[in-house]
Amino acid sequence: MSQPAVWTNADLHCHSVVSDGTLQPEELAARAKANGVELWALTDHDEIGGLQRARAAALALGLPYLTGAEISVTFAGLTVHIVGLGFDAGDAQLAAGLAATRGGREERAREMAAGLAQVGIAGAYEGALKYVGNPELISRTHFARHLVESGVCQDTHEVFRKFLVEGKPGFVPHRWAKLGDAVRWIREAQGIAVIAHPGRYKFTANEEYALFTEFKAHGGRAVEVITGSHSGADFIKYADMALEFELLASRGSDFHSPDESHVDLGTLPPLPGQLSPVWEALAERVLLPS
Ligand code: AMP
Ligand code: MN
Ligand code: MN
Ligand code: MN
Repeated sequence: MSQPAVWTNADLHCHSVVSDGTLQPEELAARAKANGVELWALTDHDEIGGLQRARAAALALGLPYLTGAEISVTFAGLTVHIVGLGFDAGDAQLAAGLAATRGGREERAREMAAGLAQVGIAGAYEGALKYVGNPELISRTHFARHLVESGVCQDTHEVFRKFLVEGKPGFVPHRWAKLGDAVRWIREAQGIAVIAHPGRYKFTANEEYALFTEFKAHGGRAVEVITGSHSGADFIKYADMALEFELLASRGSDFHSPDESHVDLGTLPPLPGQLSPVWEALAERVLLPS
């Protein structure tokens, strides 16, 4: 049965220890509930291994729930993130696509550590591994935590700026999934594909236009407008882009950790009223507590 999609405080983007967050799926569900979230999705990077626990915890807390994942994509030479929402978590093609996307992470991590060793930072691979909750999902965030803990930098943002972005010693270029594949995996699993935090990408206006155009051509249907990565100016810009490209709009904190994230679950402004919330289109996919 279709339910009236009345949720205002939907938070459809966050990370657990199954990717690069620091909380367990159950802890995130409890935190979302405590913060007044009315509809929640866990969106680990390239991984759906936390979803069963997320779903069970959400429903036990009386928190409506959608499936989610954030897929790493390479577009025009840069990394873009595509969130999938409301898909069938048992879909074999999606599972295989995510596994393939995760596949190169270990080799990449070893190359990152080699780059860091060249500037005198030894043992970074082993150090990062201490923070990894899922051996298939070693990420830059885990290196950042290690370099903070070992006193190389003050905070994770400093690590990224000095070591982990393009042109820095720990950066290794990586080929992620193709945009069309990621959108298709989500769509063919009955979900909706969402461009995550578009304000973060360093695209020219033409490249950004191409991203939105190609995303739509592949069957992508939504864009994050209200996210922890966006400034107030981004909220306005991407609300306009959602209208221009006739995309549904999403909202999510991108919460990773109580110690690192500046935006907590459920604390962002609501979606601007003129936009169509992606969760209205997913009402039939929302799992409701009994
Ligand atoms: P990876 O998938 O291994 O390339 O890691 C990407 C993750 O690094 C993102 O999802 C963020 O959690 C984190 N990240 C990226 N840029 C920054 C930054 N400037 N400061 C802190 N964390 C960042
Ligand atoms: Mn992350
Ligand atoms: Mn992201
Ligand atoms: Mn994210």
